[in-house]
Amino acid sequence: MLSYQHAYHAGNLADVHKHAALAWVLDYMGQKDKPLTYFETHAGRGLYSLDSEEAAKTGEAAKGVERVLRAFPSGHPYRKVVERVRKAQGARAYPGSPVIAGEMMRPGDAGHVAELHPQEYDALSEVVTPYALIAHKRDGFELALSLTPPEPRRGLMLIDPSYEVKTDYEALPHFLYKQHRKWNVGVLMLWYPILTSGVHDEMAKVLDACNFPGAVHHQVRFPAARKGHGMVGSGLFVVNAPYGLDAELAAIAKRIG
Ligand code: SAM
Repeated sequence: MLSYQHAYHAGNLADVHKHAALAWVLDYMGQKDKPLTYFETHAGRGLYSLDSEEAAKTGEAAKGVERVLRAFPSGHPYRKVVERVRKAQGARAYPGSPVIAGEMMRPGDAGHVAELHPQEYDALSEVVTPYALIAHKRDGFELALSLTPPEPRRGLMLIDPSYEVKTDYEALPHFLYKQHRKWNVGVLMLWYPILTSGVHDEMAKVLDACNFPGAVHHQVRFPAARKGHGMVGSGLFVVNAPYGLDAELAAIAKRIG
């Protein structure tokens, strides 16, 4: 039974870290005149309103995107896509990763996004209709392994679980390993939370020890969104990382801090 709903957390500092990196990578990969395939294993609903009760309840977006968006240069792909979505959807809209990807895809690009939660899936399938993305109500890990290697072969996969299932931490390095073997040219981007409990630590160490090619591992720390909140940072592990991503992640961390 899935209970996590991203509407409470959309636009927080972890989202800014992950979404700014995602937009930068898609922009970088899109500069080459060759089509690409986008995958997302855990998509969420795709589009959020920062005026919602959920966002107001946690106040995470106020301390996140609302505080730091302008720290990004006006030409940065993340700022550009957030502003473009706000122009179309209203000033308090916030694009989740499927909408960021959908907005940045070019003619000839293709994509698949998975979401298991019934209401989140219903919203997602409507939100992605203008884009070259197919929404699947299916386990994202299973979907990714079954549809790779894709055509076009170049591409990116975002793996952004809610970590509701504690075995995720143990399972993710195995998943990345299998996924990389099936699609050795794919850029695989895994997000994880940095928690006061330290439950993520072992996974981070295992990922480093796996010797994935072209791996970039980046963590950013920030104050808890409220007293007693366990998340104090955000981690990204990228296999086959594009050139320059480590420098870009350092710049993103400065803007968040
Ligand atoms: N990637 C989204 C973004 O950045 O906008 C946020 C995704 S949220 C962190 C994780 C989502 O994964 C939740 O909506 C949850 O319902 C969904 N989920 C959990 N387990 C899943 C699974 N095995 N397959 C697909 N979706 C799953």
